[in-house]
This record gives sequence, structure tokens and C-alpha cells, in this order.
Amino acid sequence: MTSKIRTPFIAGNWKMNLTAGEAVELVRCLHKGISSDEKSEILVAVPFTAISVVSQALRRENSSILLAAQDMHWEDKGAYTGAVSPAQIKDAGCSHVILGHSERRRYFGETDETVKKKVQAAVKCVVTPVVCIGETLEERESQRTYRVLETQVGGGLGGFNPLEISSLIVAYEPVWAIGTGRTATPEQAQDAHLFIRRRIEKLYGGEFSRRLRILYGGSVKPENVDSIMAQPDVDGALVGGESLKAERFLRIVHFQERIKAQG
Ligand code: PEP
Repeated sequence: MTSKIRTPFIAGNWKMNLTAGEAVELVRCLHKGISSDEKSEILVAVPFTAISVVSQALRRENSSILLAAQDMHWEDKGAYTGAVSPAQIKDAGCSHVILGHSERRRYFGETDETVKKKVQAAVKCVVTPVVCIGETLEERESQRTYRVLETQVGGGLGGFNPLEISSLIVAYEPVWAIGTGRTATPEQAQDAHLFIRRRIEKLYGGEFSRRLRILYGGSVKPENVDSIMAQPDVDGALVGGESLKAERFLRIVHFQERIKAQG
């Protein structure tokens, strides 16, 4: 039985892959593979160039699959060559946006401060932020995991009115597990998720933290999704590589039901 308070959430992050035509093809396959009474919410985070066409395809199929951008700027508009605004992703069809992905932090200078600005801008535009946090291997091996998570939660997610960010979703993505084939053990994931939930409770109270969905990301695949999703504080998955293969992503979406403690 799934925790009633937190609907499972399975998200695919397509990163910088697929042309618009290929993206539409993939989302059609995904739509065909899901039913109208799925136990999970399902989301795909597609490249900017595919948002409009994927959105149109989803609408044509009357699909329940949700659509996200993989990043956005925090400003409404202006002289920011190459950037895309919250209003633009919303207009193109996104209900969600991934923010603070470790690849954005590593290659594009994303920081907790810019994540916070983007969270603020997303909620103002009624776009749900999916905020990624997680430690590097070096940080884990030097016993700094909790400190890093605490800093990222405080820096990127602190100081809001809880009502303002009630739709927030957090993704715990240990950097050492992203795209490496090396997955956190279910126990490591549970431990980090519980820590994050407790930090959020300190900021926004018990009711908020009990309702907060925390996704695990980092080499999730059909072979490990069931044991990860069995953890009481793991409410979903953020899937990179395996979300590009319809059959494998659908197996992840259809992870085996498990007994979960009430949230
Ligand atoms: C990701 O892109 O957020 C991710 C977790 O990638 P992968 O599943 O390929 O590790």
C-alpha cells in the first residue's frame, strides 16, 4: 500500500537528447504504456526545443503525463541572451521545472542562491519546482553529506512562506550516482531522505514536511527501482538515462507496490 499522503512521482530527465520529432515519438510510446488510473504521477523533463511539440502531443492524446523544463532563468524577460523565462516555459506547456540539477551546478555555475531565485520565480508563475540537491563522492567520503544537504536545503529552499512553496518537490541526487551506473543503496537513500525531511520540518513544520515529496535520482533502473521505492521516505524517482527508453522507463513507472509506513 502506498503512503496516502504522498502520491508517488516518477520523472524522466531527457537532458540534451532527442530532436523534437524523436521527443514526440517517445512521449507517444509512454502515453500508450500508461493507464488512466496509474498509482504515480508521471513527468517528462524535455529539452526547450521540444516543449511545445511534446505539449501539443500530450494534449492531443489527453494524456496525464506532466511536462517540465530542465531549467529556466529567474527573470520575467529582458536582455539575457540564450535564457528562457518562467512565463515562456509555462506558455510552451510546462507545469513543472527542474532546478539546481548537479549538471547545472557543475557546468553552468548554478548555486544555492540562483536556485532560490528560480524557486521564487517558478512559484510566482505557478510552475512547480523540482529542486535537486546532493553531495559529491568526495563530500560523502569525507563525511560531509549531511552538512552539504543542510547547506543546500537552507540556501536554496529557506526563507519562503510555506504556502508559497506548498507544491515544492525535492530530488535527492547524490552526484556520484548520476549517470555512473552506481546507485545509492536503499538504506543510503532512505537515510538522506529522512535527513532532508527533518531539515524541511525545521524550516516549515511537520505538516509541510510530511506532505513533501522527495524523489531519489542516480542510476535508477528497472533492476533497482523496487527496492529504492520500498523505502518509507522515498516518494519517487528522477530518472536520466533510463527515461530515454520507453520500455525501461515504463517498468520504472510501474515499480512494484510496496508496504510503506504512513507518511
Ligand atoms: C538525472 O539526470 O537526474 C539522473 C539521475 O541521471 P541517471 O538516471 O542517468 O543517473
